[in-house]
Amino acid sequence: MKDQDIEQLQAHIENRIRELQQLLDQSAEFAEKKSLQSDDEAANLDLTINASVDSTLLANLRTELALLSRNQQWLNSDEAGYCELCGDNIPLQRLLAAPHTRRCIDCAQIP
Ligand SMILES: [Zn+2]
Repeated sequence: MKDQDIEQLQAHIENRIRELQQLLDQSAEFAEKKSLQSDDEAANLDLTINASVDSTLLANLRTELALLSRNQQWLNSDEAGYCELCGDNIPLQRLLAAPHTRRCIDCAQIP
């Protein structure tokens, strides 16, 4: 991979990590709000429903965050940009679209 491409990807990943951390911070505030609102049943129910949707979303965000920080290290290594399964070069456009991946499009289909 070209240094320039790696730099672009690193910046891209950093932005996404910042975004994810903001979302996680917001949901921490949300949980706090929920515990303060315990005397209002309707509002509480609303928050509980949202929270269960949220917990799946949050798990996904945390997974993405972990994969992104893993890929920050990957991009600093000699394997940067090579598919972890077949070893092919992963196109920059794919990595920009899915910065958490380490697989080419073909290998992404393999479970
Ligand atoms: Zn591959």
